[in-house]
Amino acid sequence: MSGKLYLVATPIGNLGDISPRAARTLEEVDFIAAEDTRVTMKLLNHLGLKKQLVSYYQHNQSGSGQRILSRLLAGESCALVSDAGMPAISDPGEDMVRLCAENGVEAVVVPGPCAAVSALALSALPTGRFTFEGFLSVSKKSRAEHLESLKNEKRTMIFYEAPHKLVNTLRDMLSVFGDRDIAVCRELTKLHEQVLRTTLSKALELYTVTPPRGEFVLVIAGAPEEKVPFLSIEDAAAAAIELHKTGVSLKDAARRVAQDAGYTKNAVYSAALSMEKEP
Ligand code: SAM
Repeated sequence: MSGKLYLVATPIGNLGDISPRAARTLEEVDFIAAEDTRVTMKLLNHLGLKKQLVSYYQHNQSGSGQRILSRLLAGESCALVSDAGMPAISDPGEDMVRLCAENGVEAVVVPGPCAAVSALALSALPTGRFTFEGFLSVSKKSRAEHLESLKNEKRTMIFYEAPHKLVNTLRDMLSVFGDRDIAVCRELTKLHEQVLRTTLSKALELYTVTPPRGEFVLVIAGAPEEKVPFLSIEDAAAAAIELHKTGVSLKDAARRVAQDAGYTKNAVYSAALSMEKEP
């Protein structure tokens, strides 16, 4: 009978966040597949564990994945860990889970810290519906296409970003999304944990002056709901004309009606002007 693959979440900064079940699993499996064996060795030392480590990372996934699969098929059990957080989420692991699924090897999750979900929970933005977007591409064209495809996304959006790319990313987001609310979540669970709830323009201003340091998750408000006008444009124009008759300038009247009715000021103003000109 084949062994099992255990997807084990590890801390994203605070070693105290390792769960008892994660520690027990690391102790009990036959071997651990790690993104960076040196990083995982530190965790094992912290837990007082000794275990065989094999390397499984982005650039050796296919070869290493086949070797891990052979051992699983031979009956050994393996814990898969990444440098931090949930394996397979913007981390190696996705392919290994697929390989197991294709070969009848059971995969079991040992859940725990995940930077994206932790940031979302702290963001103070709507959490009911959200979309995880991972890292934006380094290619200018692909990142522009990615952001453009999200322009009308109504759900809260979560991005991972490296500090040296943060300013460019905030600038690109501001130009595509407009000035939305953002929670910049930095160094979660670590000494300098910080959640900055602000707007894209203010975040850009801040990080242009103060170079960003540490690890970041960006949580951004979805596109605002479009107001559905509850008056026809003719009725809105007529209301503006009525208000104008009380001594308010037509422009101000159009602005006030437009705000309540869900139109732009110019739309109501032009409609009112045309209506006034009508015989
Ligand atoms: N699989 C991991 C997870 O889901 O938590 C994420 C791995 S991904 C390669 C690394 C990125 O996660 C970082 O560049 C950063 O965007 C985010 N991240 C990881 N730890 C973080 C922390 N303590 N605070 C803020 N962001 C973090």
